[in-house]
Amino acid sequence: MNSSKTIGIIGGGQLGQMMAISAIYMGHKVVTLDPTADCPASRVSDMIVAPYDDVDALRQLAARCDVLTYEFENVNADGLDAVIKDGQLPQGTDLLRISQNRIFEKDFLAKKAGVQVAPYKVVTSSLDLEGLDLSKNYVLKTATGGYDGHGQKVIREEADLVEASQLANSAECVLEEFVNFDLEISVLVSGNGSDYTVFPVQENIHRNNILYKTIVPARISDQLAEKARSMAVQIAKKLHLSGTLCVEMFATADDILVNEIAPRPHNSGHYSIEACDFSQFDTHILGVLGAPLPQIRLHAPAVMLNVLGQHMEAAQAYVAENPSVHLHLYGKVEAKHNRKMGHVTVFAEDADKVREFGEGVDW
Ligand code: AMP
Repeated sequence: MNSSKTIGIIGGGQLGQMMAISAIYMGHKVVTLDPTADCPASRVSDMIVAPYDDVDALRQLAARCDVLTYEFENVNADGLDAVIKDGQLPQGTDLLRISQNRIFEKDFLAKKAGVQVAPYKVVTSSLDLEGLDLSKNYVLKTATGGYDGHGQKVIREEADLVEASQLANSAECVLEEFVNFDLEISVLVSGNGSDYTVFPVQENIHRNNILYKTIVPARISDQLAEKARSMAVQIAKKLHLSGTLCVEMFATADDILVNEIAPRPHNSGHYSIEACDFSQFDTHILGVLGAPLPQIRLHAPAVMLNVLGQHMEAAQAYVAENPSVHLHLYGKVEAKHNRKMGHVTVFAEDADKVREFGEGVDW
């Protein structure tokens, strides 16, 4: 019996590369579509070099592969629908459409999946901001195209309404109440269309809107952690999820609110490569292939730090002195400022000690 499949990945960045590595371990072949010939996934897969929205290239990828997946959500859903065969993209294109638009996403989370989100309303022009109750704070976010804090405006006082009105008149938006959270957390869940497996709760610390550090398990009560994990599974079930999904959430003193979903493995789950018995990439590949999914076990508390372009030298020097740290470099050709070049993971039995990791490093 030959159970080897050819898996097509749309997007050849670090997520595509790490998906491909998992797939190769399991005996599969990988073809990646990416506009950059020497992208990270080019080191571990065959390439189709073309823009992501090139329908001919998508057709070629679909023709060469048994199963397709994507490493990021801004894929042309209509273009994909036009070329894929029935069942060839187990994640489906509806999930892409939901995660490409914050209005669809909030409505799906609040009304269909039935999980708690911050109170929100759709804003189609600055008229919808008139008479806003400024005893509360808000975040105005463009429905599409925003990422890492771009396309967002926090409203705390009258003066903020000038910029907020400009944003509201430039694009359709969602206005959310500002959540005074204690921690930002995320939960990874993987599905194979009918069964689901869930990872431990991850605590995420950002700098300049870019993930800086992930601590696992998150420093929240067992009760809140269980709530966060069951919310992630509830969302996965509603989607009949195939592959890995990351649910980003806010933890307050006594509750959990869902912020957004990413329909793919996520930066906050990289620790799982070494710290769990199966990584988020392993379960993604198993999930899109419809294979049985394992229970996830965390070997020990773990911390992951991102290595950005400006951190390359400091990170490599740190790892040279601390050889039990796991360094991953994605093989990107140019180390630009704020570009994710790699990450480091450390895990240990001593939870307090491992959490301190990164405190003393100057990146
Ligand atoms: P997002 O693009 O939705 O992930 O938002 C980027 C960051 O803005 C989040 O990681 C939070 O730190 C912050 N943020 C987003 N929405 C809210 C909210 N409703 N209340 C407080 N902070 C928020």
